[in-house]
Amino acid sequence: MRIDEKLALDAFKSDKESHIIIKHEICRKQCTTKPCLFVCPGHLYSYNEELDEIVVEFAGCLECGTCMVACKEGAIEWVYPKGEYGVQYRYG
Ligand code: SF4
Ligand code: SF4
Repeated sequence: MRIDEKLALDAFKSDKESHIIIKHEICRKQCTTKPCLFVCPGHLYSYNEELDEIVVEFAGCLECGTCMVACKEGAIEWVYPKGEYGVQYRYG
């Protein structure tokens, strides 16, 4: 089974509030390479041209923490989802 097929079997329980907060003013002023757009294994980060903002589809987060490590500017505030929320892995 391929990794994307395994990931498709995972279940997510989504909170209304995001567990990932992005400080947009830092992204605009200090970050030219925007690694968050490339490192997320779930491809959850994107750039919204209209808002001039990085957005993250937090509901599909795999809780790997990669985006927080990759953001050298410290613009990502990341915590685990609350209690019963978040990803439920089916294949380890
Ligand atoms: S890597 Fe960090 S600072 Fe750069 S765009 Fe992404 S969230 Fe913003
Ligand atoms: S923690 Fe991992 S899966 Fe979640 S948004 Fe960051 S890079 Fe993507």
